[in-house]
Amino acid sequence: MADDCIFCKIAEKAIPSTIVYEDELVVAFKDNNPQAPVHILLIPKKHISTVITLTHDDKELVGHMFLVAASLAREQQIAQDGFRLVTNCNQDGGQTVFHLHMHLLGGRSLTWPPG
Ligand code: AMP
Ligand code: ZN
Repeated sequence: MADDCIFCKIAEKAIPSTIVYEDELVVAFKDNNPQAPVHILLIPKKHISTVITLTHDDKELVGHMFLVAASLAREQQIAQDGFRLVTNCNQDGGQTVFHLHMHLLGGRSLTWPPG
């Protein structure tokens, strides 16, 4: 766990969140400022700052994250209509929490391009 990382603290249950899925590698919880009817954040338990700091050792973890995201989309009943997976990176990408995460957004028609 990285010091002062809010998502490490969520993964460790040191601060409260609404967890919707957990296994040995990842935790998924509800975003506390939802941008869509379904807005879930999926994080690795291991602290990784950004997508840029991923290494080849993380290949299996990243594949697992996509599979869990797809499973959550089915569970949340948004798989058929569609949804979006987003990972923001650094300043121009709009990343505000520097622990790798995927946003799972759905439940409404999402516009493109993003702002
Ligand atoms: P990003 O801007 O891509 O780094 O996304 C960070 C997301 O984390 C934002 O959508 C925030 O609303 C969300 N967030 C920040 N703190 C918490 C928290 N304690 N519990 C749930 N979601 C959070
Ligand atoms: Zn962290």
